[in-house]
Amino acid sequence: MANSDSLEILVEQNPQPVPDSDRQKLLENPGFGNLFTDHMVIIRYTEGQGWHDAKVEARAPIPMDPASSVLHYAQEIFEGMKAYRLADGTTALFRPEQNARRFQASAQRMAMPELPEELFLKSVEMLVDIDRDWFPSAEGGSLYLRPFMFASEVFLGVRPAKEYLYMVIASPVGAYFKAGASAITIWVSQDYSRAAPGGTGAAKCGGNYAASLVAQAEAIAQDCDQVVFLDAAEQRWVEELGGMNLFFVMDDGRLITPPLTGTILPGITRESIMILAREEGLDVSEEPYSIEQWREDAASGKLLETFACGTAAVVTAVGTVRSESGDFTIGSGGPGQLTEKLRMRLVDIQRGLVEDQHGWVKRLF
Ligand SMILES: *Cc1c(COP(=O)(O)O)cnc(C)c1O
Repeated sequence: MANSDSLEILVEQNPQPVPDSDRQKLLENPGFGNLFTDHMVIIRYTEGQGWHDAKVEARAPIPMDPASSVLHYAQEIFEGMKAYRLADGTTALFRPEQNARRFQASAQRMAMPELPEELFLKSVEMLVDIDRDWFPSAEGGSLYLRPFMFASEVFLGVRPAKEYLYMVIASPVGAYFKAGASAITIWVSQDYSRAAPGGTGAAKCGGNYAASLVAQAEAIAQDCDQVVFLDAAEQRWVEELGGMNLFFVMDDGRLITPPLTGTILPGITRESIMILAREEGLDVSEEPYSIEQWREDAASGKLLETFACGTAAVVTAVGTVRSESGDFTIGSGGPGQLTEKLRMRLVDIQRGLVEDQHGWVKRLF
């Protein structure tokens, strides 16, 4: 078996990249997730052979057999990360080794082969390098990177597949929410759960998102921006949004976030915020927080702020919570001071505006 760690990734330049002038135009207003670069990474896995045929090549549709097992049993995982242009013009990634490790943890949970950390990092860096002209022109833009893996074996039996494709695509994105944007309104899902004990809630797999879409649609129908999920067992403990972790800012200097008990996605933004908040002198605690307590603390003023966080939207204030038993407002209903402070701390590090004391910023070129 070849040593996957040292697997060579071949580069085949796209012979027909998007012309310069068209690309410049597209990059003026990229939106989120609509626009893609000229290349992609593709690496194959075959049981008994390991990882092989690694390439960076022209982004193109991939032929798929209708019996490819992912189409039937959803063996699929992904990551979400961003490449940034720092203030001094350097291109950098934020804690990419954390994404590599979480990708391995997700693979394990879904009975998929683990991609070596080195190969994950190399593949992402090579794509950023070859598509370096695809950074949005507007400030606050970045190159969103989407590594993913799925079962490609042509087989309908129910067992872990023996063949997989690992791929990376890149999408230039604008700022998800503008700085100082107003707070979001979230809908409490009481009919649907995202994750159950023993399930796949801690794995970043497409299936979790599939299960969350009907609740997200309900949130939109209720005029809300996002859905918040409660625990499946008691429908009581606040867990997270469809794709963002939650924090509660208390009036006694405590910052609460729900614990990682297997039903919550371990966000890299979540972990970074916990570290930054402790440095700000806050007492950060991972503890269960119930929906009744949330409502009560918002009413009494014990709860000052609530915010959600994740790679895509970074840090977003939650202003109003809506549910079948009525609405409640947090603080003034707008972004609070601590939310804004922690958001700035993180963004300044990610953008190279302050010294990176944690070794979080990986400079590429
Ligand atoms: C990806 C994701 C997050 C946020 O993770 P980050 O590493 O901070 O981007 C939170 N919740 C869910 C369900 C996710 O899939």
